[in-house]
Amino acid sequence: MTIRVSFSGVQKTCLALVAAAGSFIAGVLMPVDPPSEPASVRLTNILKPAVKLDLEFPSVKAIADQRVEQWWDSITQGQDEGKKKQVFSSPASFQGKIVQQAELAGQEKVIALTFDDGPWIDTTEKVLNILKQYQVKATFFWIGKHLKLYPHIAKKVVVQGHAIGNHTWNHPYSLNPSEATKEIEDTATLIYQVTDVKTSLFRPPGGVLNNGLAAYAQQQKYTVMMWSADSRDWNTGTSTSTMIDNVLRNTRSGGIVLLHDGGGNRWQTVEALPVIIAEFKNRGYKFVTVPELLQMEENERKIRAK
Ligand SMILES: [Zn+2]
Repeated sequence: MTIRVSFSGVQKTCLALVAAAGSFIAGVLMPVDPPSEPASVRLTNILKPAVKLDLEFPSVKAIADQRVEQWWDSITQGQDEGKKKQVFSSPASFQGKIVQQAELAGQEKVIALTFDDGPWIDTTEKVLNILKQYQVKATFFWIGKHLKLYPHIAKKVVVQGHAIGNHTWNHPYSLNPSEATKEIEDTATLIYQVTDVKTSLFRPPGGVLNNGLAAYAQQQKYTVMMWSADSRDWNTGTSTSTMIDNVLRNTRSGGIVLLHDGGGNRWQTVEALPVIIAEFKNRGYKFVTVPELLQMEENERKIRAK
Protein backbone atom coordinates (compact mmCIF):
# COMPACT_ATOMS: atom_id res chain seq x y z
CA MET A 1 0.00 0.00 0.00
CA THR A 2 1.27 3.35 -0.90
CA ILE A 3 0.49 6.33 1.21
CA ARG A 4 0.51 9.45 -0.84
CA VAL A 5 1.27 12.62 1.05
CA SER A 6 0.94 15.96 -0.57
CA PHE A 7 2.16 19.36 0.82
CA SER A 8 1.05 22.83 0.04
CA GLY A 9 3.70 25.62 -0.64
CA VAL A 10 3.53 26.97 2.94
CA GLN A 11 3.83 23.52 4.39
CA LYS A 12 6.94 22.89 2.22
CA THR A 13 8.61 25.96 3.61
CA CYS A 14 7.83 24.98 7.21
CA LEU A 15 9.17 21.52 6.59
CA ALA A 16 12.41 22.87 5.10
CA LEU A 17 12.94 25.09 8.18
CA VAL A 18 12.31 22.19 10.57
CA ALA A 19 14.71 20.01 8.60
CA ALA A 20 17.41 22.70 8.65
CA ALA A 21 16.95 23.27 12.40
CA GLY A 22 17.07 19.53 13.00
CA SER A 23 20.33 19.05 11.11
CA PHE A 24 21.89 22.04 13.02
CA ILE A 25 20.86 20.59 16.40
CA ALA A 26 22.12 17.16 15.33
CA GLY A 27 25.43 18.74 14.37
CA VAL A 28 25.78 20.48 17.75
CA LEU A 29 24.90 17.38 19.73
CA MET A 30 27.13 15.06 17.73
CA PRO A 31 30.18 13.90 19.74
CA VAL A 32 33.35 15.82 18.82
CA ASP A 33 36.30 13.86 17.46
CA PRO A 34 39.16 13.60 19.95
CA PRO A 35 41.99 16.08 19.09
CA SER A 36 44.52 14.49 16.82
CA GLU A 37 47.15 17.24 17.29
CA PRO A 38 49.35 17.70 20.38
CA ALA A 39 48.41 20.56 22.75
CA SER A 40 51.31 22.78 21.60
CA VAL A 41 50.15 22.64 17.97
CA ARG A 42 46.60 23.45 19.00
CA LEU A 43 47.86 26.42 21.05
CA THR A 44 49.72 27.71 18.00
CA ASN A 45 46.52 27.45 16.00
CA ILE A 46 44.67 29.45 18.63
CA LEU A 47 47.34 32.18 18.57
CA LYS A 48 47.43 32.36 14.79
CA PRO A 49 44.33 34.51 14.37
CA ALA A 50 45.87 37.21 16.64
CA VAL A 51 48.89 37.53 14.36
CA LYS A 52 46.63 37.55 11.32
CA LEU A 53 44.49 40.22 12.93
CA ASP A 54 47.52 42.48 13.26
CA LEU A 55 48.47 42.04 9.62
CA GLU A 56 44.93 42.72 8.56
CA PHE A 57 45.17 46.28 10.03
CA PRO A 58 48.21 47.95 8.40
CA SER A 59 46.42 51.28 8.83
CA VAL A 60 47.28 51.21 12.57
CA LYS A 61 50.99 51.16 11.71
CA ALA A 62 50.46 53.86 9.09
CA ILE A 63 48.80 56.10 11.69
CA ALA A 64 51.65 55.50 14.16
CA ASP A 65 54.27 56.32 11.49
CA GLN A 66 52.42 59.50 10.59
CA ARG A 67 52.33 60.56 14.25
CA VAL A 68 56.09 60.00 14.60
CA GLU A 69 56.66 62.11 11.48
CA GLN A 70 54.43 64.91 12.78
CA TRP A 71 56.26 64.85 16.15
CA TRP A 72 59.65 64.96 14.41
CA ASP A 73 58.49 67.88 12.21
CA SER A 74 57.30 69.78 15.28
CA ILE A 75 60.67 69.52 17.07
CA THR A 76 62.83 70.18 14.02
CA GLN A 77 60.68 72.98 12.61
CA GLY A 78 62.79 75.75 11.13
CA GLN A 79 66.04 73.89 11.79
CA ASP A 80 66.58 72.57 8.25
CA GLU A 81 68.60 69.47 9.16
CA GLY A 82 70.53 71.03 12.01
CA LYS A 83 70.92 74.52 10.62
CA LYS A 84 69.94 77.46 12.79
CA LYS A 85 70.22 80.96 11.36
CA GLN A 86 72.06 83.04 13.93
CA VAL A 87 74.85 85.54 14.28
CA PHE A 88 77.40 85.47 17.08
CA SER A 89 78.51 89.06 17.03
CA SER A 90 80.57 91.09 19.47
CA PRO A 91 79.38 94.40 20.92
CA ALA A 92 80.82 97.37 19.01
CA SER A 93 83.46 98.15 21.65
CA PHE A 94 84.97 94.65 21.25
CA GLN A 95 85.14 94.59 17.46
CA GLY A 96 88.72 94.43 16.24
CA LYS A 97 89.96 93.97 19.81
CA ILE A 98 91.96 91.25 21.56
CA VAL A 99 90.22 89.93 24.68
CA GLN A 100 91.65 87.69 27.44
CA GLN A 101 88.64 87.85 29.73
CA ALA A 102 85.72 90.09 30.62
CA GLU A 103 86.16 92.79 33.25
CA LEU A 104 83.07 92.48 35.41
CA ALA A 105 82.31 94.35 38.62
CA GLY A 106 78.91 92.79 39.27
CA GLN A 107 78.14 90.41 42.12
CA GLU A 108 77.22 87.57 39.81
CA LYS A 109 80.10 85.15 39.17
CA VAL A 110 80.26 83.96 35.56
CA ILE A 111 82.62 81.83 33.51
CA ALA A 112 82.87 80.89 29.81
CA LEU A 113 84.07 77.43 28.78
CA THR A 114 85.60 77.28 25.29
CA PHE A 115 86.44 74.19 23.22
CA ASP A 116 88.91 74.34 20.32
CA ASP A 117 89.97 72.27 17.31
CA GLY A 118 86.68 70.43 16.63
CA PRO A 119 84.33 69.27 15.45
CA TRP A 120 85.84 65.87 16.22
CA ILE A 121 84.70 62.31 16.08
CA ASP A 122 83.47 60.89 19.40
CA THR A 123 84.83 63.47 21.85
CA THR A 124 82.72 66.42 20.64
CA GLU A 125 79.55 64.42 21.22
CA LYS A 126 80.79 63.27 24.63
CA VAL A 127 81.46 66.91 25.56
CA LEU A 128 77.99 67.86 24.27
CA ASN A 129 76.37 65.18 26.42
CA ILE A 130 78.15 66.42 29.55
CA LEU A 131 77.22 70.05 28.82
CA LYS A 132 73.61 69.00 28.28
CA GLN A 133 73.57 67.00 31.51
CA TYR A 134 74.80 70.00 33.51
CA GLN A 135 72.77 72.51 31.45
CA VAL A 136 75.86 74.46 30.45
CA LYS A 137 76.21 76.53 27.25
CA ALA A 138 79.76 76.87 25.90
CA THR A 139 81.64 78.26 22.88
CA PHE A 140 83.25 76.07 20.20
CA PHE A 141 86.05 77.36 17.96
CA TRP A 142 86.07 75.24 14.82
CA ILE A 143 88.83 74.32 12.39
CA GLY A 144 87.58 74.46 8.79
CA LYS A 145 89.13 71.19 7.63
CA HIS A 146 87.63 69.35 10.62
CA LEU A 147 84.25 70.92 9.96
CA LYS A 148 84.47 69.59 6.40
CA LEU A 149 85.02 66.07 7.77
CA TYR A 150 82.33 66.16 10.48
CA PRO A 151 79.52 68.53 9.46
CA HIS A 152 76.89 66.31 11.14
CA ILE A 153 78.65 66.74 14.50
CA ALA A 154 78.87 70.51 13.98
CA LYS A 155 75.11 70.68 13.42
CA LYS A 156 74.52 69.00 16.79
CA VAL A 157 76.66 71.66 18.50
CA VAL A 158 74.59 74.45 16.96
CA VAL A 159 71.21 72.83 17.57
CA GLN A 160 72.12 72.41 21.26
CA GLY A 161 72.52 76.17 21.58
CA HIS A 162 76.27 76.68 21.89
CA ALA A 163 78.14 79.64 20.42
CA ILE A 164 80.57 79.25 17.52
CA GLY A 165 83.89 80.86 16.63
CA ASN A 166 86.40 80.66 13.76
CA HIS A 167 89.74 78.89 14.44
CA THR A 168 91.20 78.93 10.86
CA TRP A 169 91.14 76.19 8.21
CA ASN A 170 94.49 74.43 8.79
CA HIS A 171 95.45 75.60 12.29
CA PRO A 172 98.77 77.14 11.12
CA TYR A 173 101.26 78.78 13.51
CA SER A 174 103.43 80.40 10.89
CA LEU A 175 102.20 81.39 7.47
CA ASN A 176 102.59 83.86 4.70
CA PRO A 177 100.45 86.87 5.74
CA SER A 178 98.60 86.63 2.40
CA GLU A 179 97.36 83.18 3.41
CA ALA A 180 95.59 84.58 6.47
CA THR A 181 92.66 85.77 4.37
CA LYS A 182 92.01 82.29 2.99
CA GLU A 183 92.45 80.57 6.38
CA ILE A 184 89.77 82.73 7.96
CA GLU A 185 87.40 83.36 5.05
CA ASP A 186 87.19 79.72 3.86
CA THR A 187 86.35 78.65 7.40
CA ALA A 188 83.72 81.38 7.78
CA THR A 189 82.13 80.33 4.48
CA LEU A 190 81.95 76.67 5.44
CA ILE A 191 80.55 77.47 8.91
CA TYR A 192 77.76 79.36 7.18
CA GLN A 193 77.19 76.67 4.54
CA VAL A 194 76.96 73.87 7.10
CA THR A 195 75.13 75.55 9.98
CA ASP A 196 73.75 78.92 8.81
CA VAL A 197 75.86 80.55 11.54
CA LYS A 198 77.83 83.79 11.17
CA THR A 199 80.42 84.60 13.80
CA SER A 200 82.65 87.53 14.62
CA LEU A 201 84.68 85.55 17.15
CA PHE A 202 88.16 84.45 16.12
CA ARG A 203 90.66 82.42 18.10
CA PRO A 204 94.23 82.35 16.80
CA PRO A 205 95.83 78.87 16.76
CA GLY A 206 98.24 78.53 19.67
CA GLY A 207 97.32 82.05 20.73
CA VAL A 208 99.92 83.38 18.26
CA LEU A 209 99.23 87.05 17.59
CA ASN A 210 102.04 88.02 15.22
CA ASN A 211 101.67 85.76 12.16
CA GLY A 212 99.11 87.81 10.24
CA LEU A 213 95.99 85.88 11.31
CA ALA A 214 95.03 88.09 14.26
CA ALA A 215 95.85 91.21 12.23
CA TYR A 216 93.52 90.16 9.41
CA ALA A 217 90.79 89.15 11.87
CA GLN A 218 91.00 92.52 13.65
CA GLN A 219 90.86 94.33 10.33
CA GLN A 220 87.64 92.40 9.56
CA LYS A 221 86.20 93.48 12.95
CA TYR A 222 86.45 90.04 14.53
CA THR A 223 87.07 89.95 18.26
CA VAL A 224 90.29 87.99 18.82
CA MET A 225 89.42 85.69 21.71
CA MET A 226 92.26 84.60 23.94
CA TRP A 227 91.74 82.98 27.37
CA SER A 228 92.46 83.55 31.05
CA ALA A 229 92.82 79.91 32.12
CA ASP A 230 94.62 77.28 30.05
CA SER A 231 93.83 73.69 31.02
CA ARG A 232 96.87 72.60 28.95
CA ASP A 233 94.80 69.66 27.71
CA TRP A 234 96.47 70.17 24.30
CA ASN A 235 99.58 68.61 25.85
CA THR A 236 98.92 64.86 26.09
CA GLY A 237 101.32 64.71 29.03
CA THR A 238 98.96 66.74 31.22
CA SER A 239 97.10 64.51 33.67
CA THR A 240 93.38 64.92 34.24
CA SER A 241 93.93 66.19 37.79
CA THR A 242 96.48 68.77 36.59
CA MET A 243 94.01 69.99 33.93
CA ILE A 244 91.35 70.46 36.59
CA ASP A 245 93.82 72.29 38.82
CA ASN A 246 95.04 74.51 35.93
CA VAL A 247 91.49 75.64 35.24
CA LEU A 248 90.27 76.18 38.78
CA ARG A 249 93.47 77.81 40.07
CA ASN A 250 93.51 80.51 37.39
CA THR A 251 89.91 81.57 37.22
CA ARG A 252 87.94 84.50 38.50
CA SER A 253 84.57 85.90 37.41
CA GLY A 254 84.59 86.95 33.76
CA GLY A 255 87.17 84.28 32.95
CA ILE A 256 87.54 82.31 29.73
CA VAL A 257 88.67 78.68 30.01
CA LEU A 258 90.64 77.01 27.21
CA LEU A 259 89.76 73.36 26.57
CA HIS A 260 89.87 71.10 23.47
CA ASP A 261 87.22 68.75 22.11
CA GLY A 262 89.16 67.93 18.92
CA GLY A 263 92.52 67.75 17.18
CA GLY A 264 93.58 64.56 18.95
CA ASN A 265 92.51 62.10 21.59
CA ARG A 266 90.73 64.23 24.18
CA TRP A 267 89.53 61.54 26.59
CA GLN A 268 91.24 63.34 29.49
CA THR A 269 89.30 66.53 28.73
CA VAL A 270 86.11 64.48 28.67
CA GLU A 271 87.10 63.00 32.03
CA ALA A 272 88.01 66.36 33.57
CA LEU A 273 84.96 68.27 32.33
CA PRO A 274 82.29 67.06 34.79
CA VAL A 275 84.65 67.75 37.71
CA ILE A 276 85.44 71.26 36.44
CA ILE A 277 81.75 72.08 35.93
CA ALA A 278 80.70 70.67 39.31
CA GLU A 279 83.44 72.62 41.13
CA PHE A 280 82.52 75.91 39.42
CA LYS A 281 78.89 75.32 40.36
CA ASN A 282 79.95 74.66 43.97
CA ARG A 283 81.74 77.99 43.94
CA GLY A 284 78.58 79.73 42.74
CA TYR A 285 79.55 80.33 39.11
CA LYS A 286 77.08 80.61 36.24
CA PHE A 287 78.16 79.43 32.78
CA VAL A 288 77.79 81.78 29.80
CA THR A 289 78.91 81.75 26.17
CA VAL A 290 81.64 84.11 24.98
CA PRO A 291 79.16 86.47 23.21
CA GLU A 292 77.09 86.59 26.42
CA LEU A 293 80.19 87.33 28.46
CA LEU A 294 81.18 90.22 26.20
CA GLN A 295 77.64 91.57 26.30
CA MET A 296 77.70 91.53 30.12
CA GLU A 297 80.82 93.72 30.18
CA GLU A 298 79.26 95.99 27.57
CA ASN A 299 76.10 96.35 29.68
CA GLU A 300 78.10 97.23 32.81
CA ARG A 301 80.03 99.82 30.80
CA LYS A 302 76.80 101.43 29.58
CA ILE A 303 75.39 101.58 33.11
CA ARG A 304 78.61 103.21 34.41
CA ALA A 305 78.52 105.75 31.55
CA LYS A 306 75.04 106.85 32.66
ZN1 LIG B 1 93.62 75.16 18.31
